Amino acid sequence: MAKPITIVGGGLAGLALGIGLRRQGVPVTIYEAGHYPRHRVCGEFVSGRGQQFLERLGLGQLLAAAGAVPARTVAFFSTNQASPVRSLPFPALCLSRWQMDARLAEAFRSLGGELHEGRRANASAAGEGWVRANGRRLASDSAEPRWFGLKIHARNVPLGADLEMHVSSRGYVGLCRVEHGEVNVCGLFRRDPADASAPTAGRQLLLGLPGSLLQQRLSGAEFDEASFCAVAGLSLAPVRAAVRPEVCVGDALTMIPPVTGNGMSLAFESAQIAAPPLIDFSTGKISWPHARQAIARQCDETFAARLFWAKWFQRALLSPSFQNIFARLVVRSDRLWRMAFEFTR
Ligand SMILES: Cc1cc2nc3c(=O)[nH]c(=O)nc-3n(C[C@H](O)[C@H](O)[C@H](O)COP(=O)(O)OP(=O)(O)OC[C@H]3O[C@@H](n4cnc5c(N)ncnc54)[C@H](O)[C@@H]3O)c2cc1C
Repeated sequence: MAKPITIVGGGLAGLALGIGLRRQGVPVTIYEAGHYPRHRVCGEFVSGRGQQFLERLGLGQLLAAAGAVPARTVAFFSTNQASPVRSLPFPALCLSRWQMDARLAEAFRSLGGELHEGRRANASAAGEGWVRANGRRLASDSAEPRWFGLKIHARNVPLGADLEMHVSSRGYVGLCRVEHGEVNVCGLFRRDPADASAPTAGRQLLLGLPGSLLQQRLSGAEFDEASFCAVAGLSLAPVRAAVRPEVCVGDALTMIPPVTGNGMSLAFESAQIAAPPLIDFSTGKISWPHARQAIARQCDETFAARLFWAKWFQRALLSPSFQNIFARLVVRSDRLWRMAFEFTR
């Protein structure tokens, strides 16, 4: 009898892991606090090695059928300067989280997985056979800068590249085309400590400061108000898996700065790493502590350098002291941008 695996959180990491385990006949239950489909704050730009895991799970076609759009080019913008359009070293995949999470949930169920929507599990009680895939941690260190994210879909937004990155003194806004001709407008912003208003009040930042190239880009946009969402209290400090007492995947393990566009890939990659030891645990080949250690070791080896570079990239691009110099360099220098792209994948 295979031992069951229980996953707390039916986001991308939890669902990809559940699908990988179900393909090998492991009994899996996922508890998801929310319901599908749902909008989530996310750039909806999948870029990195996790794309290969999606293909290996046979999900590439499923996402293409849901309208996933390949992205091949990128352009950077400061408030008043634009970089040339550059080719991405390898294509990314753009699909709304509305579609992506729901399609993966369907795939998991069709493989015989048990998925309980609207059920919040006690993640801290997770023990043997339990995996945390419950998403980002809240920032607890008051010395950390506070970040909040906003997103909205829009129509009638002419893009000069498949991904546009608009950097300002408060953060960045990414624009990319998703299914049905809509454009995802998603931003991450530093919270001003003196500003006690709710993050949703920062909507003006998402739409571009007066006179900015972003504001011009969005001047004729028709917004889908139902897709507007916000998230606050993000902790972007990297965490090593070895120090965690539980098996964690995706943002529950560590969050890579969103400006890299690699968080979803990391969620898929950590699920890919976790699957073989969990299968061995389920079939009685190894103990739970052994499985946990194998997953943590492999995650740390795979992600340490990437998280290190991502932290510095994020700081250089978005910290007020470096931002002006570094953002200008990224706008101008193809070489610098390519290095940043490769080191954060
Ligand atoms: C502003 C911003 C922009 C981003 N842009 C990009 C981008 O362009 N490209 C990219 O690759 N990544 C991007 N990311 C990161 C990406 O969104 C995350 O890395 C990804 O969603 C992680 O997936 P996950 O499954 O680990 O977590 P999530 O997708 O957050 O899923 C966690 C799930 O767990 C559920 N849950 C939580 N607690 C419980 C509980 N106790 N019981 C049951 N369920 C629970 C939640 O409801 C949720 O569905 C961005 C993030 C932000 C904030």
